[in-house]
Amino acid sequence: MKVAILAVGNEVLCGKTLNTNSMFIAREVEGMGGKVTHQQVVPDQIEEIVRGLETAYTYADLVITIGGLGPTVDDLTRDGVAKYFEVELVYDQDIYQGICDYFKRSHQDIPENNVRQAYKFAGGLVLPNNNGTAPALFLQKDFQTIFLLPGPPSELELIFNDSVRPYLVSQIEERKITNSYRLCGIGESVAEGKIIHLYKQYPHLNIAPYCAVDKVDYIVTTLERYRTELEAFDEEFRTIMKDYYIGNQSTDLPSEIVRLLKEKGLTLATAESCSGGLLSSTLINVEGISTVFLEGIVSYSYESKLKRLDINVDRLMEYGAVSEEIAHDMAVNLREISGADVTVSITGIAGPGGGSELKPVGLVYMAIDVCGQIFLKSYIFNGNREKIRQRTVAEALYWLYY
Ligand code: ATP
Ligand code: MG
Repeated sequence: MKVAILAVGNEVLCGKTLNTNSMFIAREVEGMGGKVTHQQVVPDQIEEIVRGLETAYTYADLVITIGGLGPTVDDLTRDGVAKYFEVELVYDQDIYQGICDYFKRSHQDIPENNVRQAYKFAGGLVLPNNNGTAPALFLQKDFQTIFLLPGPPSELELIFNDSVRPYLVSQIEERKITNSYRLCGIGESVAEGKIIHLYKQYPHLNIAPYCAVDKVDYIVTTLERYRTELEAFDEEFRTIMKDYYIGNQSTDLPSEIVRLLKEKGLTLATAESCSGGLLSSTLINVEGISTVFLEGIVSYSYESKLKRLDINVDRLMEYGAVSEEIAHDMAVNLREISGADVTVSITGIAGPGGGSELKPVGLVYMAIDVCGQIFLKSYIFNGNREKIRQRTVAEALYWLYY
């Protein structure tokens, strides 16, 4: 089932109103297994609406229009559609009664121009709007079908669910199925390299990566009839990505870490230099973390490292604050100071200044102390200060999880 969306309105065209209605409709139609083949925005002019419909029907058999059903003179979608289909607009007493009832409920007089909304297409249907005055309309002629929906999103969504959805369900024979995968600790190009052969191997799957600083999501979609292909893909993908796969696209890594800590009855504390509290802040976004998170120390200067984290002054002078040795000492001392079972320390150079040949911008050392067992890592991240700090925290979270 091919669907085209035609948004009508100067407001949308000139950027005053964000076209969230088209986004909503497209997402819903695609989610149901339909195909959105075209989208347009046209101004509040009859001729432009007609032209828009001519274009839309070269892409689809079903068009859904948005907006322009109100009572004012600039609401012209009805007129444009009537002209395109060459059908009459006929007055409908039931629609008018519905509008009267709507105003009566809110104890208002009925404005004269609302009578404009009491028209439907000859041979068409009226779809009730329980959330506003403008009813939606439906028309089918010469194998072309159209739904006219009102602009206000709350009205549009209600009518879509009540009237458009059941129609689409009856027209779409086959449902779509989707799997999603969230990967952490791996970049998009490395991830793609690992699974590039799967694109050929599973030709009926639509495999789409979406990447962010801290994760890569893969959304894999196909038709119901290819379910076994999706299941085979699922097994192979997860095997290849076992070190990076943390769950589906709604899995949140910090929440998973908190869940694991709770499960194991462990407490956590952090000591951060270059990440400046971003790690603790990201963790503290998780609801209910108070039972496992003891404290986060942002220890930026040499003085603070000496005072707050009890770092040995000779070691600090010998190795420098950005070093594996000091990352180690920060994590170990923090366990002593905080009494936490697990501590994480981060020290690095976020730039843009402060780098040298030996210790370049982006160099980050981390240490994790898990009940006395110490793990050390170093990274060199690319990017500006913000990106380096974000990548640092993403890696720390990934490392904590595994
Ligand atoms: P009304 O009876 O409110 O006039 P209408 O069907 O005539 O409804 P419009 O006049 O086109 O619709 O738009 C009404 C309001 O709906 C706009 O001010 C805007 O806030 C919202 N709206 C319109 N089109 C869209 C769109 N494509 N996406 C999101 N919101 C929209
Ligand atoms: Mg309007």
